[in-house]
Amino acid sequence: MTPLASAAEPPPSETRLVYGPSKIVPLPASIPHEEGDTVDARLLPDLRWIAQRYPIYVTDGYSGPLPGGGWSGCHGCHVAGSDHYNGLAVDIVPLEPSSRCDAKWTAITRLARWAEPVQNKPVPPFRWVGYDGDAGHGCGHHLHLSWNHAAAKRFALAPWVEVFPAPGLESGRKPRTKKVTKPAQAPAAPSGPTGGISQTKTGGVGVGD
Ligand SMILES: [Zn+2]
Repeated sequence: MTPLASAAEPPPSETRLVYGPSKIVPLPASIPHEEGDTVDARLLPDLRWIAQRYPIYVTDGYSGPLPGGGWSGCHGCHVAGSDHYNGLAVDIVPLEPSSRCDAKWTAITRLARWAEPVQNKPVPPFRWVGYDGDAGHGCGHHLHLSWNHAAAKRFALAPWVEVFPAPGLESGRKPRTKKVTKPAQAPAAPSGPTGGISQTKTGGVGVGD
């Protein structure tokens, strides 16, 4: 019913490392999301690009304390070391909610395969993709996307984030970027937990346990 459900996109042909400064920002209306969701601002161009092509609804982004006080995202629902604690991961369900793996998930499945064509081999800039084959994730549950980034402490912004070039990346404050023609040349991303497993939700659609 929507042009969003169009043919598969080719994988990103190149990626870039975007260095700071950055901040945690609210998701804009152009990226459908649960009220109050935030992410590292450096992800916005990629997320906007994805939202223009896939009917996504973000249920969680950054999980942690906000500089001005308060809390963003869910409490205690991600694994230790989750990229959600750095604002560099999002949990996604279909824009039209469904808690069953039905046709509403078709485009989300295509997005998951675009980011990770082979299980446990995500395409850069993605660091970890949680979907079918990953406990607590998958069609009818949710898709988790994490971006590669420099090591960072919990609730801290990472010194750099790997992204694919999308409109808006080099507008505004013109973050310093470094082109990565071969993903293998990217500085080593931190090892450790494989992203986040979202087990509970504070609200929203289609992802409750
Ligand atoms: Zn997640």
